[in-house]
Amino acid sequence: MNDVNPFETAQRQLDKAAEVLDLEESVHEALREPMRTFVVNFQVKMDDGSTKTFKGFRVQYNDALGPTKGGLRFHPDETLDTVKALAAWMTWKTAVADIPYGGGKGGVVCNPKELSQDELERISRGYICAISNFIGEDRDIPAPDVYTNPQMMAWMMDEYSKVAGAYSPAVITGKPVEVGGSLGRGDATARGVIYTIREAAKELGIKLDEATVAIQGYGNAGYYSATLIQQLLDCTVVAVSDSQGGVVNEDGLDIDAAKAHKNENGTVATYEGGDRITNNELLALDVDVLIPAAIENVITEDNAGDVSATMVAEAANGPTTPEADDTLYENGVYVIPDFLCNAGGVTVSYFEWVQNRNRYYWTEEEVYERLDKKMTKAFKDVHNRAQQEDVDNRTAAYMVSIEKVAQAMKLRGWV
Ligand code: NAD
Repeated sequence: MNDVNPFETAQRQLDKAAEVLDLEESVHEALREPMRTFVVNFQVKMDDGSTKTFKGFRVQYNDALGPTKGGLRFHPDETLDTVKALAAWMTWKTAVADIPYGGGKGGVVCNPKELSQDELERISRGYICAISNFIGEDRDIPAPDVYTNPQMMAWMMDEYSKVAGAYSPAVITGKPVEVGGSLGRGDATARGVIYTIREAAKELGIKLDEATVAIQGYGNAGYYSATLIQQLLDCTVVAVSDSQGGVVNEDGLDIDAAKAHKNENGTVATYEGGDRITNNELLALDVDVLIPAAIENVITEDNAGDVSATMVAEAANGPTTPEADDTLYENGVYVIPDFLCNAGGVTVSYFEWVQNRNRYYWTEEEVYERLDKKMTKAFKDVHNRAQQEDVDNRTAAYMVSIEKVAQAMKLRGWV
């Protein structure tokens, strides 16, 4: 486990942006802490007949722009400070994407790998029952995150509907399509990543059909980014990796063969369509686009100087440390910061909520078109702000988001 307290990091990032913005002290103070924090303990019958008490969290960081929104993690190491940090970051993510939501996050301390499907269902229902008075389609809308999935969202929606006495699909997003999920949610995060890369390439004068790409992480965000960057932008993916290492081929990799290899062997590192490389070597490749799509803190002060890519598109949350950020900026590497780059997932979650409320469902094409508009607008807002203020894109993204939240707080008479 990383011993850096994530909530302190989130507060430090806010402090830095507040200083650049010359934010009023009253607004800054209000944004440094979550508005509401719930800790619940609830009982669940286990398969062996025993009863166990589980601890759950839900943090509603700020709801000036609308109901709070954010995922639920089922993780043995879940802590209140992690949830508070993630809820803060959701506040900035929804604001930068211009979605009428605040930021929230939740979690249950448990290890899903040691639980049966029946136990997971009872924990999902128990947790939602315990927080049912605090959530709702106009209050706080959860979604899947680490170790939670669409099936669990379906159980939670069902439990909430029972408690509320009314069918309530809009209380939670990331549901299976059959019970109110949106088409296009599966690859939405990666699709958003690709749209921002397309816009950045226009600004940087990169010819996409000649561009090379390296991707760290070959899960949901990484694999779909690899597929879509070839399909939609005609780029060549030359390297991919996972936790066991990666593979490189200057002539381009066969994305689907690499995926099939990973499915069969548990890793992409031993795929024979290229040469083996380490994750650190992948991050240093001389490519046009580098997409970190795995875990946090992979570009650090130790290796930031080796990054040779023209552009880093942060599909992952928090892949770059603050010290590395400075080095990348000094070296002229163009960074699309995480909460802008990976906002496609929450944007399609918002579309799901809109469709649920209207009981009218869109085609996949309609979802993609609207996602493209939102991501393109968000990208331009951040890029233009960075140019105007002569700051890095991450600082510009914070400035755009904090201003929107602060303005709503002022107009509502809170500060
Ligand atoms: P995932 O579990 O599907 O995939 C993660 C991938 O990273 C796997 O291939 C894994 O092998 C690899 N990995 C793990 N540790 C690694 C290491 N040390 N070095 C290299 N590779 C490593 O997860 P995901 O949903 O694709 O999420 C990846 C990142 O994207 C996370 O930071 C997540 O927060 C972020 N993200 C995902 C979504 C989404 O909708 N899936 C939305 C927003 C942000």
